[in-house]
Amino acid sequence: MQPEHDWTTTCPGPGSYSQGSGISKYMRTNVQNPTITPRELISAWGRILNGRLPMLSIEITRECPLSCPGCYAYGENHLSGGVTLAKLSDYHGDALVDRVLNLVREHKPLHVSLVGGEPLVRHRELSRILPELSAMGIFTLVVSSGVIPIPAEWNSLPRVRVAISVDGLPEHHDIRRKPATYERILKNIKGRKINVHWVITRPMLERPGYLEEYVAFWSGREEADRIWLSVYTPQVGEQSPEMLSPEDRVYLADELLRLAEIYPKLLFKDGIAKAILRPPASPADCVFAKLSVNYTADLRTRVEPCVFGGTPDCSQCGCAISSALHWIRNARVAGPLKIDHFISSSVKVGLLANRIRSRSAHTSRWISTGPAATKEGLVQIQS
Ligand code: SF4
Ligand code: SF4
Repeated sequence: MQPEHDWTTTCPGPGSYSQGSGISKYMRTNVQNPTITPRELISAWGRILNGRLPMLSIEITRECPLSCPGCYAYGENHLSGGVTLAKLSDYHGDALVDRVLNLVREHKPLHVSLVGGEPLVRHRELSRILPELSAMGIFTLVVSSGVIPIPAEWNSLPRVRVAISVDGLPEHHDIRRKPATYERILKNIKGRKINVHWVITRPMLERPGYLEEYVAFWSGREEADRIWLSVYTPQVGEQSPEMLSPEDRVYLADELLRLAEIYPKLLFKDGIAKAILRPPASPADCVFAKLSVNYTADLRTRVEPCVFGGTPDCSQCGCAISSALHWIRNARVAGPLKIDHFISSSVKVGLLANRIRSRSAHTSRWISTGPAATKEGLVQIQS
């Protein structure tokens, strides 16, 4: 089971991508509340050039009324230095509002993910934070279990989205995520617009028809704007029933591509399928890790090397945003230039900008000696 912040958390999301041509192919511009536009993506490169990371994720509380089996947010290895989320000091009230906004002002991200624990434990503070972020032109995603009602007024805020984690059909979800059962979620999202986020684990592949049943159910719910998914991502050395085998991934990729043709709310493209079959080799090879910075509930300690924390097994990564970014890194943006070239080049220039500035942005994961970092030139142009 992934915590609420698995994908997911810091990301324009696969929901940002739609059919088209050129850069616009990856943008949603035909919806009321677009997640990101070409202009914003280009401004993200500008931020990287300035030594800043465009995606910020914050675990705004250590509290959660759920106790999902396998939740690693509260695990010993989620944070470094022997600290655990449950033992951290966190904030509420004015202190939380002010400190979150200060963190955002410091990092100047393009996209903010607010996660937990259960972020809606702090719904009063979020009702003050979200309008501020919206007014700052920042895209914000709140990832929740749906255990607490979504304030109706959030739906009218530009650039604000709420994703509800629904991990399988009730036969799995209601047992693992009690008290955030289907019944409670449906009550708490009534009249709202949400994204559904689904972490696929191995038991969900055992019953024929399971995947389609899930997609059909949520496609039929008017509250669900779109459905995006992650595949369970283990930690290095983990052996658990949730993990998918390579054969499972092949089946999953084929089946989800089929379902995406039938159910347009399901966001699953050929490139994401390829990324699920061939995830990044390491954090150094992960565009998502390179472009994001993640804080836990004391608003000081960072979660490394990505939102998962600990030592995630990148070779089995199923994170939705990592998959989406791994996919678009090979997309051409101008002639032979690919998005990955711009990101790699921008990171190098951003490192230089950080050295020049007295107070650098948080770019430790940019300084990699891994294979992905060493083989890339400033700008690679294909022959
Ligand atoms: S809902 Fe709470 S207990 Fe469950 S995975 Fe998320 S953070 Fe962990
Ligand atoms: S590839 Fe590795 S670093 Fe990137 S999101 Fe997945 S687990 Fe994290």
